[in-house]
Amino acid sequence: MSETNNQKTAEKHEFSAEVGRLLDLVVHALYSDREIFLRELVANAADATDKRRFEALTDSALALPENASIRINPDKTQKELTISDDGVGMTHDELSQNLGTIARSGTRAFGEKLNAAKPEDRPSLIGQFGVGFYAAFMVADRVDVTSRKAGSDDAWTWSSDGKGAFTLSPASRSTPGTDIVLHMKDDADEFLDSWRLRSIIRKWADHISWPITLRETKEDGTTEDQAANEGTALWSKPKSEITPEQYAEFYRHISRAFDEPYATLHWRAEGVTEFTALLFLPSARPFDFMEQSRESRIHLHVRRMFITDEAELVPNWMRFVQGVVDTEDLPLNVSREMLQSTPVLARIRKAVTKRVLTEITKRAKEADSGFNTFWENFGAVIKEGLWEDAEHRTEIAGFARFHSTYSDDLITLDDYVSRMKDGQDAIYYLTGDNLDALKSSAQLEGFRARGLEVLLLSDPVDGFWPERLSSYQEKPLRSVTHSHGDLEKFESVEADTTEAADVEKLVPALKDALGEQVKDVRSTVRLTGSAVVITSDGGPDLTMQRLMRRSGQSMPAMPPILEINPKHPLIKALAERVAKGESVKDYASVLLDLARVQEGEPLPDPTGFGRSLATLLAGPAAE
Ligand code: ADP
Repeated sequence: MSETNNQKTAEKHEFSAEVGRLLDLVVHALYSDREIFLRELVANAADATDKRRFEALTDSALALPENASIRINPDKTQKELTISDDGVGMTHDELSQNLGTIARSGTRAFGEKLNAAKPEDRPSLIGQFGVGFYAAFMVADRVDVTSRKAGSDDAWTWSSDGKGAFTLSPASRSTPGTDIVLHMKDDADEFLDSWRLRSIIRKWADHISWPITLRETKEDGTTEDQAANEGTALWSKPKSEITPEQYAEFYRHISRAFDEPYATLHWRAEGVTEFTALLFLPSARPFDFMEQSRESRIHLHVRRMFITDEAELVPNWMRFVQGVVDTEDLPLNVSREMLQSTPVLARIRKAVTKRVLTEITKRAKEADSGFNTFWENFGAVIKEGLWEDAEHRTEIAGFARFHSTYSDDLITLDDYVSRMKDGQDAIYYLTGDNLDALKSSAQLEGFRARGLEVLLLSDPVDGFWPERLSSYQEKPLRSVTHSHGDLEKFESVEADTTEAADVEKLVPALKDALGEQVKDVRSTVRLTGSAVVITSDGGPDLTMQRLMRRSGQSMPAMPPILEINPKHPLIKALAERVAKGESVKDYASVLLDLARVQEGEPLPDPTGFGRSLATLLAGPAAE
């Protein structure tokens, strides 16, 4: 027995390339707010303890000791800080996998962001976001993790100086759980002071429901473990006993964020289903928000015990909502299958969604409530609800904010409707990839000239929802890139005295030259400065078509309509050519490509376009 143990010597492993890079950045970026390493390690210890408690529900052999806790032990003489827990622990392979590779997509996204940032910006990036376990290397030049998996007798020590490799050696631990020993850097002495540690725990970990103790050395040299956190579930206290600071700290703890909550919702629902909810709307957008999974991560507790953050307690488009829902109406050992089918959760989901929606609607109506900033952070996600949430679509449309041609301020659809012109029966919109390009789009010229307001939609989801919403206050939403006769009903605001050319012959000539490439060629009043524009006749609008093509969806060929501006000098010149009996064949494809370029559409034959354009430009000189 002892022989086999002796044969088990330390194994050396390389870090995965990603971990190596991340560690390098964490260690070498000058760091101003190093204290968050403790938040990360204590949160991991609490997660591990939660996990063991949860697993013990189905396997009593894994039961936690009665006094399960997280213990922090500073040793000034050895310059070591130890964080111990009674959690699930890790096996040999889990130590290697969890601490040697990056599994968490957020951490990976963070690494990429950090890599891309200028060196001088890196410290603030690290300061803004946690980096999990690896934060330990900001204060330690070596980290030893000794862990014994609950249900196993084996223990292993993972050890690394954070420079490319780690070792795994057999160890022993009398009970399951994990000890993390940080061999502190010379400049990290402050984190061995108990007053400093105590204040960090209060700040970051007060609400962790497991007891956290701090080992204090008394004057006579003896030590004592003292309670360092309050450890009560904040949401179970009456509102009157909770300060705004405590709410904010709890928000930052649960969402691992650094901002202040934009809104705090704390209520107890009584009736058929009873639950307490403490939810937050964030005021800042997490850096990797758009890369995160689309599911909500609100924590579900049963009688103050954490059960899961995968219960999807709000629709996907509300996934920015953070917090806790605690109910007594589910059993503690609720299974995954049960979570999916129980009517209790369905009722909670409905009530929670309604409450959040009411709050957002209320904030949106208040002046000076900072709602526009909130919208800038999360509007792109909320608008997914316009697309996929039939039940709440109309409500969302009521508070949604948009850019428009009216001013630089965000507007609501009610604002838009109140400004509609006499005889205007539709809400006009233009979608595209970015706001600046939209503002100068040729598609808007005729609308601007007639004082017709157009919504400018530049988020990816904007290509999709207008058709689903279809109308607001019975006014249909209409893409300005759809060819329709609306503009002819309205006079230009300023008198336009420019003569229009007679394009009666030019139109069929262009149509003839372009053949299958266009559905039609038409003279238009929608342009004032540009010569040409492409539009479509119903069906998905041009942006939608582009998005679908880009996402690899097969699309039937939908040739555009080429609209030409009879008041433009180029069109006039071409009309004259046709009148003289000359061909406009060479010009036709250049005109169509020009209109495509204006839209940001890829050209089917860029080289051909270049060649034709060069020939035409050289024309007068060559003659
Ligand atoms: P995250 O906690 O976000 O997943 P970390 O880098 O902090 O990322 O930790 C990586 C993984 O290592 C955790 O997901 C967990 O599986 C494991 N782990 C870390 N600390 C402990 C611990 N004290 N006990 C058990 N497992 C742990």
